Amino acid sequence: MGDDLLARHRAVLPSWVPIYYPDDPIEIVSGSGRRVVDQAGRGYLDFFGGVLTNMIGYDVAEVREAVERQLATGVVHTSTLYLIRQQVELAEKIARVSGIPDARVFFTNSGSEANETALLMASNLRRSHQILAIRNSYHGRTLATMGVTGHRGWSASSLNPLSVSWLHSGDRVRGLLAGLSDSDHIDAAVEDLREVLATQTAGDVAALIAEPIQGVGGFVHAPDGTLGALKKVLDETGILLISDEVQTGWGRTGEHFWGYQAHGVVPDLLTFAKGIGNGFALAGVVGRAEVINAVPAVSFSTFGGNPISTAAGNAVLDYLLDHDLQANAARTGAILLDGLRAAQPRFKILAEVRGRGLMIGLEFVRPGTREPDAPATVRVFDECRRNGLLVGKGGLYNNVLRMGPPLTLTEDEAREGLGILVNAIATVDAEAVIR
Ligand code: PMP
Repeated sequence: MGDDLLARHRAVLPSWVPIYYPDDPIEIVSGSGRRVVDQAGRGYLDFFGGVLTNMIGYDVAEVREAVERQLATGVVHTSTLYLIRQQVELAEKIARVSGIPDARVFFTNSGSEANETALLMASNLRRSHQILAIRNSYHGRTLATMGVTGHRGWSASSLNPLSVSWLHSGDRVRGLLAGLSDSDHIDAAVEDLREVLATQTAGDVAALIAEPIQGVGGFVHAPDGTLGALKKVLDETGILLISDEVQTGWGRTGEHFWGYQAHGVVPDLLTFAKGIGNGFALAGVVGRAEVINAVPAVSFSTFGGNPISTAAGNAVLDYLLDHDLQANAARTGAILLDGLRAAQPRFKILAEVRGRGLMIGLEFVRPGTREPDAPATVRVFDECRRNGLLVGKGGLYNNVLRMGPPLTLTEDEAREGLGILVNAIATVDAEAVIR
């Protein structure tokens, strides 16, 4: 790199900030559609979109124009203490698509802040700081959201303002619920919940927070209906369900607009972030009026719902709905999932192809075992990059590749990415030996 931006980064940012491809890092200097270009002029098809933030692709005219119209007024932001038209309009739209009856929307600047707010709402309302969370979860980097993050790589604090009890994740490859049929898995998850409630809590639990598909945890998901079955138990004592839709929202899973819908349940609170701003910082909490309005706390955010972010958000949501990108996610996601599943039997290192729509995870193991293979995962990851495809990493053991391309992905781009992926896996698989 010409001016060695990595060295300058390392010299002034914290040492623990992760950087992909540290031996030859990427500075993305331009983007269009699903493609980006780096500092050396190398082009990439982007299957990670900045951890699922570029939901409708790069350089979308409708979004740029909406933001430019706001900039032309001379007002970037003043205060959320004044009325903001775009904010109200976006809240109306989100309330309409949320699937939550009589919904209210509170805007924040990040997913962490949205989850922090949802946890605050639930604990205030229920007058309890007891929370149920799922192993292998990721909910953010604030004190409370780290407290409900069940992933040692991302939970850097043991100072937890909440009292948290942990439920088993939906991991189908390893762990206590692995290998069960869907209905046995759901029964076991319900039994786990009942046991945790009886043995680890005094009964006055505020909420369960769950990702319908775990994002950072490696796109792990329990069988459809699991959250619905758990909710029946929660309802016996009024425990709220918070659905963290930061990665699963806005039609990404193809079949459904929200991840919770695969579970036959409506959450009490839903949190969103990432894709709705298509790069602009925009997040929030949605919930029934009776839940949100009953929170005995006045909450104010200087930037949450500011005119620039919400101008972008309105344009993104309109674009998403007008172009039925949920259907596109289902269509193009099927090309990837079917192609990867068809190729899987050829590979010794690929233990599972999983996901929904354009949220697809590949889990790598040592041949003939269930042992996570992080080095092989990095090799495939690097090989993809070398051949012009950006993907993400994840999983509790760093042995999962994650794909979350923009929902505008074309069928040709899906096939192009599939080809690169399959070749990359084949290259690394050929080096693997059965022990
Ligand atoms: N929840 C989930 C499911 C996430 O994936 C993330 C971000 N990776 C967050 C919350 C936190 O969002 P942010 O980084 O915007 O604070």
